[in-house]
Amino acid sequence: MYLKTRPSRTTVDRRHRPSGLVAQPTRHPPVRPPVFCQKGLPETGHFVRRAKRRSHALDLGLRRNGGLRERLPHNRRSPGSLSLVARPPFRYGPDSHTILSALERHLTKPLANDEDRSKMVRLIDLSHPLEDGQLSYPSDPEIHVTPHRTMDAHGVNVSRIAMGSHQGTHLDAPFHFFADGAALDEIPLERFYGPARLVDLAPGGALGPKTPLTVEMFEQHAEAFEPGAKVVYRTGWDRTFGRPEFFTDLPSLTLDAARWIAERRIALLGMDTPTPSKIAGRECHYALLEKGVEIVIVEGLANLDRLPDRFTFVGFPLNFRGRDGSPIRAVAVIE
Ligand SMILES: [Zn+2]
Repeated sequence: MYLKTRPSRTTVDRRHRPSGLVAQPTRHPPVRPPVFCQKGLPETGHFVRRAKRRSHALDLGLRRNGGLRERLPHNRRSPGSLSLVARPPFRYGPDSHTILSALERHLTKPLANDEDRSKMVRLIDLSHPLEDGQLSYPSDPEIHVTPHRTMDAHGVNVSRIAMGSHQGTHLDAPFHFFADGAALDEIPLERFYGPARLVDLAPGGALGPKTPLTVEMFEQHAEAFEPGAKVVYRTGWDRTFGRPEFFTDLPSLTLDAARWIAERRIALLGMDTPTPSKIAGRECHYALLEKGVEIVIVEGLANLDRLPDRFTFVGFPLNFRGRDGSPIRAVAVIE
């Protein structure tokens, strides 16, 4: 069903034109294009089809990727993207308010289900906290997080943040090591989110300083390294976070191991060390980030000892345009 609209038009009112005056066109307010199209009301179990988003659209924020699918079980069978879009001003047809409020009621009702669902899901923070003055990778910028405006002086707290793009728990984009490599904003969001595997190289413990991470160690977990997979390996090195040796003595990929991983064509490689390798740092980055491989490297993860073998990885970078890396709030979702 389409809601009918009239095109905007200009008319001249000739009835009350005093002689000698030029007729002034009366511009009728434009009537907006269809507010939404739909295939039946939600009560009937049908779904709202995507309406074209236009500038100034008031998106009610219920698109499939934003969680509608989770909140509306009957929509799981629906193909295509789901959204309800309304454009102000609300000049709909006589039925539109009824339809719109019915939709709103319907779309907000399953909140109770969300609560039930959240009880079944556990979130584990895989990020180290960021704070003023903490250690940074040698030769990287220092981190400063300081008050810019304060409650006492200004009635509001605003902070000034300065740090390198590879501070703390963060990820590397290919542009980090390749001038023509993809930057943060050029990597599809799907690369930062999705099912992931834990490869625990030190179950129940931690590897010693400067342990080489060899092909043989990863081959034992070869089934986790499927094309397109997200793989996080654990060495236990995060226990040294905050100490200088965290950056200098870490268990490190051998170049052969980095090449072995690159050949598996996985999508994301995470680790609890601040960089993949001190043995062959630059070469390992080249192997993992080069064109055609372009693995998202997530460094400095925490709490990997709390992860099961399978989980959902979430770790979006800030949307810096054209840049090489960004701190992330990495989270494991466990269902
Ligand atoms: Zn990095």
